[in-house]
Amino acid sequence: MRNRGVQDSCGRVRRWRVLAAAPHGIRHLTTGSVNPIRKIVIVGGGTAGWMAAASLSRFLRPDQCAIHLVESAEIGIVGVGEATVPHIRFFNQTLGIDEADFMRKTQATFKLGIEFVNWARIGDSYVHPFGDYGRAYRGVKFHDVWNRLRLAGDDTPLDEYSLPIKAAKLARFAPPSTDPQSLLAAFGYAFQFDATLFAPYLRTYSERRGVRRTEGRVVDVRLRGEDGCIESLKLASGEEIAGDLFIDCSGFFGLLTEKSLHTGYEDWTHWLPCDRAVAVPCESAGPLLPYTRATALAAGWQWRIPLQNRTGNGYVYSSRYISDDEAAATLMRNLDGAATAEPRLLRFVTGRRKKTWNRNCVAVGLAGGFVEPLESTSIYLIQAAITHLIEMFPDRNFDAVNIDEFNRVMDVEFDRVRDFIVLHYHATERDDTPLWNYVRTMPIPDSLASRIELFRERGVIVNYKLGLFYEPSWVAVYVGQRLLAKRSDPRLDDVPLSELRQHADKLRAAINAGAESLPTHADFIARHV
Ligand SMILES: Cc1cc2nc3c(=O)[nH]c(=O)nc-3n(C[C@H](O)[C@H](O)[C@H](O)COP(=O)(O)OP(=O)(O)OC[C@H]3O[C@@H](n4cnc5c(N)ncnc54)[C@H](O)[C@@H]3O)c2cc1C
Repeated sequence: MRNRGVQDSCGRVRRWRVLAAAPHGIRHLTTGSVNPIRKIVIVGGGTAGWMAAASLSRFLRPDQCAIHLVESAEIGIVGVGEATVPHIRFFNQTLGIDEADFMRKTQATFKLGIEFVNWARIGDSYVHPFGDYGRAYRGVKFHDVWNRLRLAGDDTPLDEYSLPIKAAKLARFAPPSTDPQSLLAAFGYAFQFDATLFAPYLRTYSERRGVRRTEGRVVDVRLRGEDGCIESLKLASGEEIAGDLFIDCSGFFGLLTEKSLHTGYEDWTHWLPCDRAVAVPCESAGPLLPYTRATALAAGWQWRIPLQNRTGNGYVYSSRYISDDEAAATLMRNLDGAATAEPRLLRFVTGRRKKTWNRNCVAVGLAGGFVEPLESTSIYLIQAAITHLIEMFPDRNFDAVNIDEFNRVMDVEFDRVRDFIVLHYHATERDDTPLWNYVRTMPIPDSLASRIELFRERGVIVNYKLGLFYEPSWVAVYVGQRLLAKRSDPRLDDVPLSELRQHADKLRAAINAGAESLPTHADFIARHV
């Protein structure tokens, strides 16, 4: 299948400096330093480890910098990260991965957004789409037009003005049009895939580019006396592996960053109280949906992720409000096909490492932190860490100014994802269980409180350059969670309502026709993957 450009989670084309420039410009990264990094050691062969190995092997010449990955089959991987955001396509394109080949080998489906069921009130449903709503009216964003009409009594749901939502609900899919004027161009897409197949896929890619892999368990980490940097790792076999730069992809263990360097962890459980998940795959049932579903339950929420060959399911919950047995029983009752494996329990603490980069060690993936999977952000955060590392690639001096800037940027990435996830919980009207009462009334981060206030007053969204979620994403969740603006954009005050209605009606008709013209998701996959 042909690649047709990459959109961010809002459908807009947004290129990352290094990763995007690479296929056409940068071939290899050379620091030009007199003290260059000669060897990188990666601990961990989950999604994070192999994403790091693949990207670094794409940019570094093997004769200049060796890459050595250590993983332990005995310990295994988390392997439940199945849903992504559109940025994953930047990653694949930069590596030169063929989309159809990747989809075949990871059982992937397309994803146009996430449906949230029962979040603001039981019975509610809305979709956070990967794309803009409608089209601006004389330079004023469409959601402001919708808000003006709503305040004047129009009750058409905002979802009616989104092409990806319409297509998702009809179980239809085709890549965005290449004609920028077309309504069929204003969206992005991501993938839902089998996480246990993604790491092996990237392993093949990396080993072809010279990455060395050792199967073994790290049992000791030796630190250098003079500066406390990591010098080498010792494996259970007795083998010793030395390096200049270490990447900790050891998952929740945080083997290098925490167990050896004692970096510290910022615990966000008071804002995000879910701390466990039970996951189980089941047989596919019904049409192949091009979206993930997140259904709010009594003590958390349940995911449903359709793949080509099965459906992934899980209940993310707070152990304060439900037992593991009860959570597993609830999940098994809610499956829409027969379970194909035993349920698996996972424990986590939501938060992030106090420093993603500490001394000569960068923590990537779950070793660096975890914000629960409600918006499929973990793989994005892995990608962000790798991208920023490549942009700020060090030499063996490990300049503090470089490391500080990297950590500042990663803190912003994590904090913005956190705020967005907290919004889903806090902006609820539910008072039916202790979990929902807690999150509805809990204090929230100041950064989120001020954003909510601005939106509530007049529908203003503060845009930022760094971070994952843009205007349409915030609009989707505010409106979907029934958090609505009190006033409308003053630029629309003098525009006759009839003109705005006409604009909205035309868009709605075009969006309906556009969505209905697309092939079904299942047919598209059968023909192109
Ligand atoms: C319930 C749940 C649902 C999720 N859903 C999503 C989702 O939908 N979308 C998304 O983007 N992300 C999701 N994630 C996150 C996603 O699973 C992870 O970000 C991703 O799998 C990366 O994991 P990792 O590679 O950091 O860690 P892991 O998969 O845990 O890998 C750790 C690696 O380190 C190795 N290791 C550990 N200790 C040692 C040692 N002593 N010696 C040698 N090797 C060692 C292990 O063998 C393994 O290879 C979810 C996570 C959870 C918990």
